[in-house]
Amino acid sequence: MKPSAEHPAELETEAAEHVFKGQGVSPGIAIGPAHVVERGSVDVPEYPIEEAAIETERKRFTDAVTKAKKQIQTLLAKTSALPEAAAEEIGYLLEAHLQMLTNSRLVRGVERRIAEDRINAEAAIQAELSTISQAFAAMDDAYLAGKVQDVSEVSYRLVRNLTEAPYQAFSKLPEGSVILAEEITPADTALMDPKRVGGFASALGGVEGHTAIMARSLGLAAVLGVPGLVNRVHSGNRVIVDGFAGQVIINPSSETVTRYEARQAEQERQRRQLARLRETPALTRDGITITLQANLELPVEVEMARAGGAEGIGLLRSEFLFMNRETPPSEDEQYDELSRIVEAMAGKPVTVRTLDVGGEKLAYSVGKHLAPSVNPALGLRAIRLSMKVRMLLENQLAAMLRAGAHGPIRILLPLITNTGEVRRVRDVMTRVADRLARKGVAITEPLPPLGAMIETPGAALTANSLTKVADFFSIGTNDLTMYTLAVDRADEQVARLYDPLHPAVLRLIQFTVEAARRADIPINLCGEMAGDPRYTALLLGLGLRDLSMSTPSLARVKQRILSLNLTEAIKRADAIMEQSDSGMIAALLDDFNGLA
Ligand code: PEP
Ligand code: MG
Repeated sequence: MKPSAEHPAELETEAAEHVFKGQGVSPGIAIGPAHVVERGSVDVPEYPIEEAAIETERKRFTDAVTKAKKQIQTLLAKTSALPEAAAEEIGYLLEAHLQMLTNSRLVRGVERRIAEDRINAEAAIQAELSTISQAFAAMDDAYLAGKVQDVSEVSYRLVRNLTEAPYQAFSKLPEGSVILAEEITPADTALMDPKRVGGFASALGGVEGHTAIMARSLGLAAVLGVPGLVNRVHSGNRVIVDGFAGQVIINPSSETVTRYEARQAEQERQRRQLARLRETPALTRDGITITLQANLELPVEVEMARAGGAEGIGLLRSEFLFMNRETPPSEDEQYDELSRIVEAMAGKPVTVRTLDVGGEKLAYSVGKHLAPSVNPALGLRAIRLSMKVRMLLENQLAAMLRAGAHGPIRILLPLITNTGEVRRVRDVMTRVADRLARKGVAITEPLPPLGAMIETPGAALTANSLTKVADFFSIGTNDLTMYTLAVDRADEQVARLYDPLHPAVLRLIQFTVEAARRADIPINLCGEMAGDPRYTALLLGLGLRDLSMSTPSLARVKQRILSLNLTEAIKRADAIMEQSDSGMIAALLDDFNGLA
């Protein structure tokens, strides 16, 4: 069938079972009705702009166009993995969208409206789309009428790039729904209630991006990087997401459903068996105690963390407080949320990290502080943004100090690259504490430990100096791997190169652990490596005794600890550190784990 611009969604509907391959990023199996996310469901903000702001607004628009072109080019590149006919049809549509972003009536019209009508770019897009739609409709030509669909898809892509707004709330979906979209951001994931959503799959995204991390934390089956997905499914179609094998099965046959239901039941049986380890201390066979804590992305997980036997929250990613809202949360709002979590942990320590947005983690409420960057992962991210927008930092620290009056708290700083950053934050923290004390507000006494995330090679290699200013370290292997190997953790195109077993990454971990040990400061590891039992022996062998991970991983890692001998693990880690090839390292590790 020639692609029809009139009915793009109907291109390849077929009732037969169809299997798509992608990257399984969160283990689990979801079987349920598809909910295909439409681009059109974005709210469009409208406001007037000053004459002086016209250039900035045009630049915002141009950046959104550039981003849209890149997105479409990525999708086009992925179509080559599809069967020829499908690749041709989807390719044809995407090419048309690409053309619409180059000196088209839409682009010219929006630029003119920003300058002449003095309105924001989103409103200008909306107005231009409406004019084009009316003009095409008046021409009474089926081909042009169909083109309106394409113009509106491109327009909504631009609006979404401008607003960074999440697609929509998923609260009204039928239970067990499977969400399918071109892209699912961490902010979208934050809206998914595990009681309603069984899993999700998208065309874009990589294994260690925050969307994947949140899926694992929430226990949602997820497959990312699936080419051609949304073009072939309708909402309501039955879908299976197999997060183990990285497969998405559309319209599964009844035999396939039966097979997957059996696997789901087996998985549930294993989960219950592992849950019995909840109260068992994490002791190696030779009697060394390991601390296992939980990473928290969303407040709903705190109950799961407690029920899963977490000995504390090793990493509370405070980004959730800033997502899916127009303006940043006030100090009081943050205090309320944090103190609830601290109280729920009933005396167990909670390590709260200051805001870490920028890079692939965006929060609409602070978006205006983030100018587009050629290289956002190396730009105004994490602690850099907090230091620049001082109110953000001061409000967060004040909320944390106040929440600390309800239970033990530690404060953790993301993306530290030098000692000055820690020193300056400590100064700000002291000033905030003095201000609160003067006002008679109850805060934690003494001030909480202030720690540094070690997630850049710069921080790892200067770990000795950082021990002089930081009270503890937490190694973030997700970013450490990304920055050491120059591989974007969220980009499926380079996912093969993302390798935490690369000797360079392991040396930086070892170097950091030794620096902390010499200075006698606590150290833990809270990157995704901590939650994978395959790495447990190596991490303990390198000297770590405290690991923080997504709650569903706690029992699996504990089971591995109970079965291993630390003295042997240290010997194996020594042998591994002699190697220069990560294939050899993986083989030595698998052999030790009994997998070879
Ligand atoms: C890390 O980088 O390993 C980490 C734990 O932080 P995040 O994944 O939130 O960037
Ligand atoms: Mg990080």
